[in-house]
Formats: sequence, C-alpha cells, structure tokens
Amino acid sequence: VVVVVDEAYLEFVRMPDAVDGLATYRAHPNVVLFRTFSKAYGLAGFRVGYAVAHSEIAAALRAVSLPFGVSAVAQVAAVASLEAESALLERVDALVAERDRVGAALKDVGWDGPEARIPDSQGNFFWFALGERTAEFAAACEEAGIVVRPFAGEGCRVSVGETEANDRLVEVAARFA
Ligand SMILES: *Cc1c(COP(=O)(O)O)cnc(C)c1O
Repeated sequence: VVVVVDEAYLEFVRMPDAVDGLATYRAHPNVVLFRTFSKAYGLAGFRVGYAVAHSEIAAALRAVSLPFGVSAVAQVAAVASLEAESALLERVDALVAERDRVGAALKDVGWDGPEARIPDSQGNFFWFALGERTAEFAAACEEAGIVVRPFAGEGCRVSVGETEANDRLVEVAARFA
C-alpha cells in the first residue's frame, strides 16, 4: 500500500509535534510526500509541485504522469520563488499570525462549544462544520462580500484573507455559532 503524505500546507504548520514527513518517508519505503508551489509559494495558477519518493515509486509516478506536465514558464516561476523563499516565508508568518488572531476571535464569538467548534487550523483556511446550515452560511458570507467554499450538507471552507474580510467573517460566523 502506498501512503501519500500531502504536505500542501507544510509551511503553515506551527504544531510542535506535527508529523515529520521527511523522517516518515525515510523510515518507510511505501511513503511518498507531495509538495506544491500553490500555497506558501503563491504559484497556484502555475500547477507546479513535486514528490519526494523512493526510486521504485518515483519510476511508477513518471510512467503515468503527463509528459511535459510542468510548463517551462511554471519551472522558471518555481525557481524564482525558491530564490525569494525568505520573503515568501515572511508572508506565511504574517498569514499564520492573522490566522491565529481570527481563530481566537471565532472562539470568542462561540465557535468553541460542543455544537459549534472549528478545528484548530494549521493551514491557510478554517473549516466550519455547518451541516444543514451550510448554504445559509455561504449566502450570509456572500452578502458580506466574502467568498467561501461550501460543501453542501457538510460545511464551509474559508480561506484566511485580508484583515477587514476576516473581521467580517467573524461577524457572520458569530450569528451561526
Ligand atoms: C492546493 C492543494 C494541493 C496542490 O494543488 P496544486 O495547485 O494542484 O499543486 C494539494 N493538496 C491540497 C490539500 C491542497 O489544498
């Protein structure tokens, strides 16, 4: 069985006891890491990322992946973003600080109880398990000018945005806590 550890949000993780993907990969021949430039490196439109895999699995991946799957422009963008890594990771730090501020504000307005609780976010988004109220929440967010991603009957995924948008999100979420 091949186990994939998707590290799309690796740079946003601040848990001290988070899984060490590379150590896990080194310890197990069937573990593969997936990494993307779409999040911390800001290249979502470029569709560029990489896998860290043992050679047998890497060969199998190459056999089924699209030829020329990463465009020349995307490769140049990825290299340029690695050269700008420290500036980009500073931006991630700022986002993480804002995420934690908003997470605390959401708890303050009631998203901390047995009925309504947001999982501690280690990514760049929050998950609101709204069940049947998902569509109503998404409509209220839209009304407030916030774009969210509803999953019908389950909940909404909301990215951490600009401070003003996040404050509006907290206002809307307070009504649903
Ligand atoms: C964004 C994301 C990816 C990578 O997306 P690409 O843009 O296709 O590189 C992978 N996994 C998760 C969970 C993501 O959120």
